[in-house]
Amino acid sequence: MRICRYEIYVKTITPLHVGQEMGTKLSIIDHRVYRRVKYESGGRVEEVSIPASTIKGVFRHVFEDFLRSLVIDRLCLDNILEIVGRVIAAVVDVCYVLNDRALRDQFERMLATTQNIVQPSFILREDESLDLVDTGELARRVYSYVISNVSSDARSFVGEENIERLCKLSILCLQELLPLVCEPVGNFCCVPDTALLEFGSDRGQTVRFIVNTVLLRKTPLRVEVCPSCILFGATGLASRLRFKDLTLDEGSKVVEPVLPIVTRVAIDRFTKAAKKGKLFTLEYVPPGVMFKGEIYFTPLLKIDYELAGSGMLEKILKAIAYEISGKVPIGKQGSVGYGLVKIGIGERPRDSNDDPSLMDVIREYIVEFYLKEAALLELCKSSRMNIRDYVDHVVNTVARLGLSGSEVNKVRNAIEIVIDHRLAVEKIIANIL
Ligand SMILES: [Zn+2]
Repeated sequence: MRICRYEIYVKTITPLHVGQEMGTKLSIIDHRVYRRVKYESGGRVEEVSIPASTIKGVFRHVFEDFLRSLVIDRLCLDNILEIVGRVIAAVVDVCYVLNDRALRDQFERMLATTQNIVQPSFILREDESLDLVDTGELARRVYSYVISNVSSDARSFVGEENIERLCKLSILCLQELLPLVCEPVGNFCCVPDTALLEFGSDRGQTVRFIVNTVLLRKTPLRVEVCPSCILFGATGLASRLRFKDLTLDEGSKVVEPVLPIVTRVAIDRFTKAAKKGKLFTLEYVPPGVMFKGEIYFTPLLKIDYELAGSGMLEKILKAIAYEISGKVPIGKQGSVGYGLVKIGIGERPRDSNDDPSLMDVIREYIVEFYLKEAALLELCKSSRMNIRDYVDHVVNTVARLGLSGSEVNKVRNAIEIVIDHRLAVEKIIANIL
């Protein structure tokens, strides 16, 4: 296993305050800057640094935002509604095959308790969001897609009004039901392949497995998770990218131990004057200071080796770094100009950039790397395997881990149906990318 290592440089261009937990150390400053503690020649030494979690968080955030924008930009409203219709149809069909109505209840609960309720107009393309969106009309269109793609037995098993309710709820969760990108803290976040072992027995995992497979965020036994979770990790799957705390670069040591401090105050909304008792002091790293750190990537699967070996991963990191530079604040007080930095990967940050934009890089990653592994239509074209062989391969793998004969047949039928709906989504995606 070859671990890849990339250097990362971060230079402040406005004051930076990445805070330390309050109350961890007695101090006359209210908001102290984060410091790493280390033991050197028998004593405790603190060094100003930027925590790895801050940098990783902003990298993931920017990458996901761009991936989501790419998906939304490419899909038209009808594509989105058809894809959501396929997700619901898959769950309804599997309910029938597994003879389990409670699976639909579980799906409804997960839709109803989503933390990410978003007005549909927010996730529509700019050219489509001009008119006010009638959510009732959108739900009816999803319903018509479900009805035309679900078997009539499954339809009567689950019940018309129950299917209608799923359609209505799905309209409020469109952001959680986008193809190729998951909401990592949502109810339908990516699940690793271990979810297969609980297919049919754990309803939450079963729904998540169906949703993610249909939405092309997962291809069982080939690509476990969506393009973002491959890099940054998912629940139950460690992040391939690992960031280290950034510490002061050689020439920047002079700023320690004394960092500048500002005194700020909250304004009273009524008197419009400084609010009593709301004076606070804030320490910050001044502009012009360089930090240095490392990013590691541990390849595990074929796609990881291809990403790292081809230079694609470095391209992604560089494009993210360029998007953050001067635009996305890190740390506190971003709304008042703090936290802007310049980031360089493998070299000190440059002023100009002639590399491709993050949007183009992500598209290349999806088309040339992700879909090459994930797309089952592609797989059938390039190998002698057909979809049935693939489903057999998946089911046999689960069966070897201990399923009884009748269960195996049920699971096989269910997975075959899920893959059927998934292939329809693949066709839509192939046409728009
Ligand atoms: Zn994901």
